[in-house]
Amino acid sequence: MDKKSIRDIDVTGKKVLVRVDFNVPMKDGKITNDARILKVIPTIKYLQEQGAKIILMTHLGRPKGKVVPEMSVKPIAERLSNILGQEVIFAGDCGGPESHKVTAEMAKGQVALLENVRFYPEEEENDPTFAKNLAALGEIYVNDAFGTAHRAHASTEGVTHFLPAVSGFLTEREILVLSETLENPSKPFVVILGGAKVSDKIYVIENLMRKADCLLIGGAMANTFLKAQGYNLGNSKVEEDKVEIAAELLSKAQKSGVKVVLPLDLVVAKEYAAEAESKVVAVQDIPEDMMALDIGPATVEEFSKLIAQAGTIVWNGPLGVYEFDRFAVGTNKIVEAVAAAPGKTVIGGGDVVAAVEKTGLTAKIYHISTGGGASLAFLGGKVLPGVAAMLDKDK
Ligand code: ADP
Ligand code: MG
Repeated sequence: MDKKSIRDIDVTGKKVLVRVDFNVPMKDGKITNDARILKVIPTIKYLQEQGAKIILMTHLGRPKGKVVPEMSVKPIAERLSNILGQEVIFAGDCGGPESHKVTAEMAKGQVALLENVRFYPEEEENDPTFAKNLAALGEIYVNDAFGTAHRAHASTEGVTHFLPAVSGFLTEREILVLSETLENPSKPFVVILGGAKVSDKIYVIENLMRKADCLLIGGAMANTFLKAQGYNLGNSKVEEDKVEIAAELLSKAQKSGVKVVLPLDLVVAKEYAAEAESKVVAVQDIPEDMMALDIGPATVEEFSKLIAQAGTIVWNGPLGVYEFDRFAVGTNKIVEAVAAAPGKTVIGGGDVVAAVEKTGLTAKIYHISTGGGASLAFLGGKVLPGVAAMLDKDK
């Protein structure tokens, strides 16, 4: 899946429309974490070096197609000005008269940020007229918002019908790492899966099962698989209507020689609460009135052993209720295990990435995807509309 990047196209002096993901966390009108802005700086700097005029557009929050003043991206323009050490022009609309006026008057190396693209219902509807109007602002389109590439919206897909489309450095690296991981993993290829539900991820499990040597399953997802093996899960979260599919997946794995490791022990509690009293039990000993909220130490040990031997590790979904410190232990220990492992680790998923960030070990991980849903779709073998829409490299 070789897609052209900004390096493969002449951007010199051009008006370049860049879709970024500046969907930063905000509190009382202030940005609380600017990591998403910082990730796009290399792309912006490169375009500036080429003398391009850089027109940025992003979404922020879920304004649902209406103007919601608290979700204006103006504070982001200010933060970006500080980071770049130059004025970032803010346009109070996205594709409207102000955008057109601002972008018509830009000098080389200047940067403009357009208002929240999701203030317009046409964005998520992928309305062609809206997309064409966005496209009219620039001469080249750059996707550097990998986190939205699984959505066919006007600013991620529609616009590419009217402009040559290439990736920025962030999107380029995401595609490169994720496709290299799926297409050519160093063996053994170990996949760690956790999180809330089997149902969200069946297609991902099926796709990864075709490629992986070993599947380590934890989190609430494991409960449904354990149920399929006949264990009594007490009050644990189980998707009763997915038990049969879980059993099928297990027998499929067995037939194709994929090793599936389910929890050997679990941390259980009477209630789903931060301070709930907890204890470790073997998987066959879950009390009727208790629920599994984390993997236990024997499971951590078994998973860690396999992780240490892996050539490639892909991880989606936390292995317990990581939001509560008491039940974050299993997930944290596995973060330590992948950080120490010699194999290349790729981690994707909104929650698992948040869990890893809490541990402060992110620098030790080969690749942490910026796209939760997008990375999951990619790992599930889906075609991402925002990726598919970019120009192919000449063979
Ligand atoms: P990701 O965003 O990484 O793909 P998911 O959204 O699928 O992950 O799942 C994350 C959620 O799963 C978290 O809110 C976490 O608390 C929950 N979870 C993990 N293990 C359990 C469990 N044993 N019981 C209940 N919820 C769990
Ligand atoms: Mg999630």
